[in-house]
Amino acid sequence: MKVTVDLPDKKDLFFNNKRVIDLRSDTLTQPDLAMRLAIASAEVGDDCYNEDSSVYLLQSEVKSMFRKEEALFMASGTLSNQVALRSLTNPGDEVITHPFYHINFFESSQTADLARVTLNLCDDDDGFITVNALEKAIHKKPRGGYYAKPTLVWIENPVTSTAGRVYPIDQLREISEFCRSNKIHLHLDGARIFNASASTGISLEEYAELVDSLTICFAKGLGAPFGSALIGSKDFIKRCKKYRKWYGGGFHQIGFMAKAALHGLQANINNFYTDHENAQKLASVIQDVPNIKIYPVETNIVALELSEWNINSQEFCDKCKSEGVLLFPWSHNIARGMTHCNVNESDVLQAGHIIKNILLNVLN
Ligand SMILES: *Cc1c(COP(=O)(O)O)cnc(C)c1O
Repeated sequence: MKVTVDLPDKKDLFFNNKRVIDLRSDTLTQPDLAMRLAIASAEVGDDCYNEDSSVYLLQSEVKSMFRKEEALFMASGTLSNQVALRSLTNPGDEVITHPFYHINFFESSQTADLARVTLNLCDDDDGFITVNALEKAIHKKPRGGYYAKPTLVWIENPVTSTAGRVYPIDQLREISEFCRSNKIHLHLDGARIFNASASTGISLEEYAELVDSLTICFAKGLGAPFGSALIGSKDFIKRCKKYRKWYGGGFHQIGFMAKAALHGLQANINNFYTDHENAQKLASVIQDVPNIKIYPVETNIVALELSEWNINSQEFCDKCKSEGVLLFPWSHNIARGMTHCNVNESDVLQAGHIIKNILLNVLN
């Protein structure tokens, strides 16, 4: 059937009648026309009966991109993380991770309540776990018998809390070898693994090969409105499917969203290079401000450390907002900007100049 409809294209944001450049997060993108058409033309079925061909296509594409046995479409990165935790541990087990990572920084309550595991935190300053720290975390107390059992090592790459810095590959390899020789499952929260891969040139399958299972997200740099995936062995995905249903994450005609995610993988996979270049451009304009501290930009995140300035991050973000730039107050002293497919080079240069002028005013 031929139909004619007006589809809204991605729209600009306004605040006080001024166009706003929204750099709060790469989750804020609006689907473009091509993605809306992909959604509208999706074939769907009931995915709880394994009858949604669009979900099937997406899962097949993902498992072959990462060269793992199975992939499972999930509603969000958070649900993927919680379902993975539940599937990989028993209540009371210990999970070794870093305090900066999403499962602790944002999900410590969910982790305690839903998975009922304890987090054993390796507190390396740079956000990357070392084998030395893993060894200490595991061996610094008695194990076996009545004691907590460390059954899972959980890493994140890139590390959002350190402004998207990418794990040195040799350090990942060492962690991988350590986990394999100690027979501990290694899970990667790779919500932005596409950014890591674009930044280093290391392929998705090479990253996936080093871990037993991973989480990815479609609603970030790929520009889809929804979704995430869990990737790993057949046995792992079988357990995840059970807990996805338990947690209310089994959807029926979800092929519409699977088609959007698939479109993101096919049409937007090269956006990461542009996003990273734009983040560099944004940082280089702000870098002109004397004494400003910007975290090294390796992906699409530009984080400003404001602790030596007379302003906290919320106040700073409010000032930026009144001048037409939205940033995210990541912590008391850190304001964060992220590039994504709804902002272009001229947007980031303009935003950079606005941020720079505000900082110069704060300084004076
Ligand atoms: C965004 C993100 C998540 C959560 O994804 P949602 O889809 O927002 O729930 C988990 N882990 C990391 C590292 C993320 O960046």
